[in-house]
Amino acid sequence: MLDFVRGLAEKVLAGEWLNRSEASELIRVQGDDIPDLFYWANKIRIRFQGRNIRFCAIVAAKVGGCSEDCKFCAQSSHYSTARSAPDKLTDQKVLDSAEHAAAVGADSFGIVNSGRGPTRSELENWLAPLLRKIARNGKTRACATLGALTGETARFLFENGVRRINHNLETSERFYPSIVSTHPYSERLNTLRTARKAGLSLCSGGIFGMGESWEDRLDLIFTLRDIGVDVMPLNFLNAIAGTPLEHQPKLAPMECLKIISICRFIYPRVELKVAGGREVCLRDLQSWIFFAGADSTMIGDYLTTYGRSPQLDHQMVRDLGLDWQTYEDGPVEPTGEHPRISRISHTGRFNIPIIYEGEVAVRQDAVDMFRS
Ligand code: SF4
Repeated sequence: MLDFVRGLAEKVLAGEWLNRSEASELIRVQGDDIPDLFYWANKIRIRFQGRNIRFCAIVAAKVGGCSEDCKFCAQSSHYSTARSAPDKLTDQKVLDSAEHAAAVGADSFGIVNSGRGPTRSELENWLAPLLRKIARNGKTRACATLGALTGETARFLFENGVRRINHNLETSERFYPSIVSTHPYSERLNTLRTARKAGLSLCSGGIFGMGESWEDRLDLIFTLRDIGVDVMPLNFLNAIAGTPLEHQPKLAPMECLKIISICRFIYPRVELKVAGGREVCLRDLQSWIFFAGADSTMIGDYLTTYGRSPQLDHQMVRDLGLDWQTYEDGPVEPTGEHPRISRISHTGRFNIPIIYEGEVAVRQDAVDMFRS
């Protein structure tokens, strides 16, 4: 057992937070010593998060046709992939997915839309009635992944029963311009701060395996800890044909597990959720995610790729002698009869207009500011 890993783990178990240089020491752990990280991360998980794990589920309600150019994403209209054309689920399919999510033990259920941000008409006419139904039903937490939010749209979601939003930072601020050029990192940070102000719980994490360095990974984890996110999803790149990252090699299973463990050391009290790429990157080592420090995972399908059957995940958890915690907060009564939002919203330090397709023209000068 490595003494310095034990020393850092004992510091975390005593309730102290690691600083950046201490976290950098953990990166040095290699080869046969990596399970030392798991051993301690597992103890930290149990101390701060308990033995039960959580599941969450999502549905891709609006897919494809996205104006943004995120290099990992199958839904960007900048690339030619199987999911880049726009499409939308029926209301009934979204509601059926929420029922199914609750039935398989998902503590939270997220409606996910492609695009930079939701349009006013999407929010008022399509999403609000669905979110109100799911919130009133009270079988699972109503979450939303809708892209950039303004103060007004974040409050609108809260008033319609949403209690958590997901908005991933994806990677470090330094590496971000290598992955996305159509909107700035500051907009993503701003959405998180805005959502928190509106009373929403924050789910935000990133994607690993896009060519980033360990320093980038630490930057991301520390930024998320500084913001105080409640849930941190860890995605491992499952490269999609047709995207610029299609030839990016998959991370090795032990590398994924090491990332999970280091996250747990740095941010002991977060719900650490293993999300996309679990099946393809971890393969036979999927069940190790909890031993490596995760206390949460997605169940069912991902946005544009398939997951495995919920029964296999139930069996995995039971075989480990663990159990999963289901949603306990009960029905959420939306506030405000029919909240409305105004036509144009701006976001970010530089007042960037959120691109409401069909409603607001894109100001090219505002977009160009971030390209120099
Ligand atoms: S904004 Fe979202 S949907 Fe659009 S390309 Fe980026 S990740 Fe994909």
